[in-house]
Amino acid sequence: MTPTREAAERLDGTDPLAPLRKRFMLPDGVVYLDGNSLGPMPTGTPDALEHTIHQQWAPHLIKGWTDDGWLDAPLRVGHRIGRLLGAAPGQTIVGDSTSVQFFNALTAAARLRTDRTVLLVDADGFPTDRYLASSVARLLGLTLREVPMSGLAEALASDADQVAVVAASPVDFRTGELWDMRALTKAAHDAGAVTVWDLCHATGALPLALDEDRVDFAVGCSYKFLSGGPGAPAYLYAAERHHPVADQPLTGWLGHSAPFDMTSEYQPAEGISRFRIGAPHVLSLTALDAALDVFDEATVEQIRAKSLALSEFFLACYDDQLAGLGFELVTPRDPGRRGSQVTLRHPAAGRLMDTLAERGVIGDTRPPNLMRFGINSLYVTYTDVFDAVAALRLLAESGEFGS
Ligand SMILES: *Cc1c(COP(=O)(O)O)cnc(C)c1O
Repeated sequence: MTPTREAAERLDGTDPLAPLRKRFMLPDGVVYLDGNSLGPMPTGTPDALEHTIHQQWAPHLIKGWTDDGWLDAPLRVGHRIGRLLGAAPGQTIVGDSTSVQFFNALTAAARLRTDRTVLLVDADGFPTDRYLASSVARLLGLTLREVPMSGLAEALASDADQVAVVAASPVDFRTGELWDMRALTKAAHDAGAVTVWDLCHATGALPLALDEDRVDFAVGCSYKFLSGGPGAPAYLYAAERHHPVADQPLTGWLGHSAPFDMTSEYQPAEGISRFRIGAPHVLSLTALDAALDVFDEATVEQIRAKSLALSEFFLACYDDQLAGLGFELVTPRDPGRRGSQVTLRHPAAGRLMDTLAERGVIGDTRPPNLMRFGINSLYVTYTDVFDAVAALRLLAESGEFGS
């Protein structure tokens, strides 16, 4: 199929997820391919926030914590996210940032293997994970080993009796490359290590099976593919089998078994509640809860199928329109190795992307020369993809992107 605009319109016309686009506020004339950085506003979010503010907070004051379910919101919303993770209820908690949750998960994981000395971390991972892993290693007196994803299994095998924890992301935030979480989790377990996965670029975009894959811990953010809004709280998954002994480092009062007894000794709660820290972010949780409604109307398998079809269409447009213009495709062509974005390399990546944004096509860049186009099949259309690539071709051909 030649990737024409007519072909794109035909594909949009038969797309079963097309009606979901109107569940998001997308400004006219904008092609939004940056939802892997910040999802757009779901149309239900303002009403949900209004409701919490005017029907709960204003009239109920402090009784909102109990009467409006604010105190339990991290568990309730965690349960909704757990469904996207392939996690049975009671293993996912919502709160704080990914950075905080990653610190907590990594430390708790390392404390399950105190006989070991090495933290093995994905060298291509998001910087926050690497910075925090370095701090956790210093705190616990462990050795940090940073290895690229492609070398993780080998590093595990060579250091088999020393690796306490393996921490990695299934989707590379720069390249969009997808790694086999199940196989790497198994390799970690075969080596006696515990796993911590960062799911920021996976949850809501790909089917996940944390329980089935025997993942130990996972964390992620909710403002990218979940469109929970700026400042939306992160989530932490801890497999039930670890709950009785998990010892997380941020022992805030709401992780206590009886927080309102105000006792002087810390006694961790049963279950996932021991991963709670402080007071829930009620307004952000409200926005996130509203954003999750759209996931009741599409299965993750449907979302994934459309995402792959959209990125396939992007690649067809790339081959047809961008050849010979100085671009290099970074994201794997193999659909089994592709997350939910397309990344191109170009020496003028930053200037191209800035000019593209002025022309209504929003993606982003990562240093030194990568252009990222995020694909969220809940609202991105085939026409969006065609228009984005066509705009990029016009721009690259014209040379009108500064110097
Ligand atoms: C976006 C992102 C984060 C962000 O962490 P915050 O603490 O929520 O800002 C962490 N990890 C990965 C892989 C990300 O893509």
